[in-house]
Amino acid sequence: MNPFSLEGRKALVTGANTGIGRAIAVAMGNAGAHVVCAGRSSCDETVAQIRTAGGKAEPLALDFADPMAAKDLFDDMGADILVNNAGIIRRGEALDFTEEDWDAVLDVNLKALFFTTQAFARPLIARGARGAVINIASMLSFQGGIRVASYTAAKHGVSGVTKILANEWAGRGINVNAIAPGYIATNNTAALQADPVRNKAILERIPAGDWGKPEDIGGTAVFLASPAAQYIHGAILNVDGGWLAR
Ligand code: NAP
Repeated sequence: MNPFSLEGRKALVTGANTGIGRAIAVAMGNAGAHVVCAGRSSCDETVAQIRTAGGKAEPLALDFADPMAAKDLFDDMGADILVNNAGIIRRGEALDFTEEDWDAVLDVNLKALFFTTQAFARPLIARGARGAVINIASMLSFQGGIRVASYTAAKHGVSGVTKILANEWAGRGINVNAIAPGYIATNNTAALQADPVRNKAILERIPAGDWGKPEDIGGTAVFLASPAAQYIHGAILNVDGGWLAR
């Protein structure tokens, strides 16, 4: 048996229409999983990419405008891999930060992540099946950042929730881990990439000397979902070109 194969598994990836979520969905499809590509925007392109490569995929409309949106989703789905990738960022000075920008980010990045995971795990644990949860954390699960109070609070929360769920579920066959991406070239970081001063400063600080690609996170997610990672619980795996080691 190939310990890195996801053959026979079913994965749901949130925010699978673009960026890191799309790369994870495609990587999981290539590794043999049937991928449910969930998004508030259409995931048709991601589904087509997986099918063209010979994989199995289907789209699913899922909008965390309601953070409890996934509460009944998993009862009959048979999913045994969940990737909590959907996330937003709002920028503003702490002194001026609004309640709207606080609640919007905490709702999508933390509340939806927790309750989606709860809904995913309930049927799995009830039938004694194995499963894997992969949360997308951030460098701001470890560092403070600037002008991103709600994002930093939420991503520190993702790290904590990953650990508590690992503590509760490791003995019940569910692997809960997180990936902390460094600077990855996606829509989320388009403004930074386009700013020549910030872009230069970021590149100079990354030991690998370049922005990460969404595919770098895709391969890591496949590993964490695979039998090869069966004894990994509660880890926050940095995929950051060495940023945090600096
Ligand atoms: P992105 O291209 O902006 O993708 C974000 C994804 O989240 C999109 O699919 C987006 O859907 C979805 N989303 C946002 N609000 C949603 C809602 N209410 N309901 C459902 N889905 C929603 O950015 P990305 O870089 O790929 O980000 C993916 C994850 O990686 C996020 O959790 C982000 O915090 C994390 N991350 C990124 C970096 C980086 O350097 N890029 C670094 C660390 C962590 P729409 O397209 O419809 O908006």
